[in-house]
Amino acid sequence: MIRLSELSLSLDHPEDALREAIIKRLNLVDEELQDFFVFKRSYDARKKNTEITFVYIIHLTTSNDAAVLARFEDDVHVKVAPDIEYHPVASAPENLTERPIVVGFGPCGLFAALTLAQMGFKPIVLERGRNVRQRTKDTWALWRNHKLDTESNVQYGEGGAGLFSDGKLYSQVKDPKFYGRKVMSEFVRAGAPEEIMYVSKPHIGTFRLTGVVAKMREEIIELGGEIRFEAKVSDLLMEDQKITGVALQDGTVLESKHVVLALGHSARDTFRMLHKNDVFIEPKPFAIGFRIEHPQSLIDKARLGKYAGHPELGAADYKLIHHAKNGRAVYSFCMCPGGTVVAATSEEGRVVTNGMSQYSRNERNANSGIVVGINPEQDYPEGILAGVELQERLEEVAYKLGGSDYKAPAQLVGDFIKGQASTKLGDVEPSYKPGIQLCDLADGLPDFIIEAVREALPAFGKKIRGFDREDAILTGIETRTSSPIRITRDNQSYQSLNTQGLYPAGEGAGYAGGILSAGIDGIKVAEAVALDMLKQQGA
Ligand code: FAD
Repeated sequence: MIRLSELSLSLDHPEDALREAIIKRLNLVDEELQDFFVFKRSYDARKKNTEITFVYIIHLTTSNDAAVLARFEDDVHVKVAPDIEYHPVASAPENLTERPIVVGFGPCGLFAALTLAQMGFKPIVLERGRNVRQRTKDTWALWRNHKLDTESNVQYGEGGAGLFSDGKLYSQVKDPKFYGRKVMSEFVRAGAPEEIMYVSKPHIGTFRLTGVVAKMREEIIELGGEIRFEAKVSDLLMEDQKITGVALQDGTVLESKHVVLALGHSARDTFRMLHKNDVFIEPKPFAIGFRIEHPQSLIDKARLGKYAGHPELGAADYKLIHHAKNGRAVYSFCMCPGGTVVAATSEEGRVVTNGMSQYSRNERNANSGIVVGINPEQDYPEGILAGVELQERLEEVAYKLGGSDYKAPAQLVGDFIKGQASTKLGDVEPSYKPGIQLCDLADGLPDFIIEAVREALPAFGKKIRGFDREDAILTGIETRTSSPIRITRDNQSYQSLNTQGLYPAGEGAGYAGGILSAGIDGIKVAEAVALDMLKQQGA
């Protein structure tokens, strides 16, 4: 198979133009091109006011691949296609008696469990929250009625933190074995749109993700796996720092020598339980800041010029970074085109923002986190869990600033830059539910953060005209950008540095940041578990 890259076609090209372009580019006659598919399609918007084009990577077979490759030997865009298929590393023997446990059913736990189930290892999944249907109702109760369920919310429950999200499915992680493609193809098999396999910035949006996750759960069960909801792991069972099982909040005890911990970044009580059990944990950097909202049309115009609103391009996104004079990096995080800002707390008396969208991305506003990087050495040197405590303190301040009923504190960008409390909204309507309370956000975060964001917003306004407009809205606060800790594991065995049989995985353990990378990490850890189980069984 051949990989042909950098093939450009106009945005409005007809379907069969692709085949013609491949034939022309490789000097083939029609019959020679036997088969092809789009591996990736991105767009080049550098010339947004003259012509935006699609840029393709194609995988193809011809009647004589060797001859074509020889002809284009010196062409960097015509090469042998890499193997992108997923190959399972193990297959469980019939007489396997032990069952691996997967704690957490977010994207990481989901892919760990699915991969184990597909290899025949019949995992038991323990998820503290409820199933997608029930969880959706519980989450909306906070958004509509200010009522929080601390075990079933935006962070906890089937699908994990990514369920109520923008469903962006891209990541910067290195993926030489194309595990990301397995994640995508499993999503497609479960009902996600086919295009996520090839568009450069795929997303599925909240509602579609809900159906997809429920379908994948069914497959795990059909393959002999088991999924228990409202099953919170409250302790580890260990002998000589080796895992022998887990204890649940309701007193149930489950034995296994292989426990995947796919907790997410919000399971603070479980982090404390691990620390109490002397599991090796270290603090890590994360970021804090605010959500910003603008009209989506402003972003479309700045990013896509005359192509703003083109149906093939959809709502535009952005990625911004500014290095502030005080040495801090300010950057956009989890940008959600055409979406809404959501209440993302899992704890009483605390407020946290995040963003989500539907597949159509057709809400009026664009939002993203505008966050500042912080690190344990400089900002929370007091101890291993000091980052967690910092998040808790800031979320409590946000709750109070918001009026102590889960409304979020908010301020207009113009007022924030001038250092005065907001009293009245402009044209940009905040989307956060259950509502906002106008205030001075400078009361909510440390001075160095405020200083850095104040400097960054006008700088961002030079890159995207209108980004620092007076009536853009800042909502606060954004604290759960990634895990404040790492549950460090060995690079080869994927087991905790000091606790045998414990496999820290995904975002909570500090090994992923987003749905796709969490899914990829779940697959890797499932493979490590399967191979170790075979080794212990002597198979
Ligand atoms: P999680 O998804 O957090 O899952 C962990 C699970 O473990 C939870 O379901 C939790 O209930 C469970 N759990 C925790 N403790 C226990 C316990 N003691 N016992 C049993 N179960 C437990 N990422 C993107 O890539 N694209 C996006 O568009 C995007 N949008 C987002 C929008 C929002 C509102 C939020 C909150 C996050 C978003 N993210 C997005 C981030 C993404 O959701 C996470 O990176 C991803 O879900 C991490 O996956 P995970 O499986 O490691 O952890």
